[in-house]
Amino acid sequence: MIEIADTVKKAREIISGWKKQGLTVGLVPTMGYLHDGHMSLVRKAREENDKVVVSVFVNPMQFSPNEDLEQYPRDFEADTKLCSENGVDLILHPVPEEMYPEGFCSFVDMTGPTAELCGKSRPIHFRGVCTIVNKLFNIASPDRAYFGQKDAQQLAVIKRMVKDLNMPVEIIGCPIVRESDGLARSSRNKYLSAEERKAALILSKSIFLGKEMADNGEKDARKICQEMRKLIETEPLARIDYVEAVDFTNIQKVDTIDGETLFAIAVYIGKTRLIDNFIVQAKS
Ligand code: AMP
Repeated sequence: MIEIADTVKKAREIISGWKKQGLTVGLVPTMGYLHDGHMSLVRKAREENDKVVVSVFVNPMQFSPNEDLEQYPRDFEADTKLCSENGVDLILHPVPEEMYPEGFCSFVDMTGPTAELCGKSRPIHFRGVCTIVNKLFNIASPDRAYFGQKDAQQLAVIKRMVKDLNMPVEIIGCPIVRESDGLARSSRNKYLSAEERKAALILSKSIFLGKEMADNGEKDARKICQEMRKLIETEPLARIDYVEAVDFTNIQKVDTIDGETLFAIAVYIGKTRLIDNFIVQAKS
């Protein structure tokens, strides 16, 4: 039977009980409005741990004032049902007032991998992400934590934070889950009108084009980005935020495919900002 902790105290009581029995804990941090992308993380966590915790928390600290915090979709009942069906043991569902009490003034900040891509267009975003993930780790004491490659820069940032700050948790990255027509699954897809939903396919189409070029031996990352950009620009409802190639570990721009290279895009479809990416490994 799934348990729900809406306070830190309750979550700690349940998790420390498990730890006393020597059980391992896998954590899947989310902002809710769960879909099969999130559940792929849950299934992986289920395979590798005795207990699985999903946190459902729309983290105000990672949204700028002009972003979609208020509209961000929420459906805790549906989330609970999905978690229950997928064998989650505990949902951590704290309120913002407990996570950020009056006087809150401690943050986890990072330079380096947060400077490019989403860090450029969302300057306070990763400070909010690192701070909340740190808090969730302190509350849930997970042995492993699961993050999607869908948010590839976030995955690189969290890996770096854990390494730099000696956090005793293993970070596991999981592949992107897509709709049958290719669109990467995202809670934000709910914002799209029928017409925008069709237009949004330009993201995955450009990802598949770029990947095909790389698979066929193209090493010039700028050329690949240029072709991806050209394709996206054929869609009248699309407005590019960025199309970039970076080193997947340090998220610094690269001109040539070398080591693990991340091709990442952020594109507005109408007012909705969507992201997608692929990673290629340079052939030796
Ligand atoms: P979110 O609720 O959007 O903050 O996402 C929570 C976690 O689920 C993050 O680690 C995301 O990268 C991951 N995630 C979201 N969508 C997908 C997807 N389509 N495929 C794989 N992982 C995903």
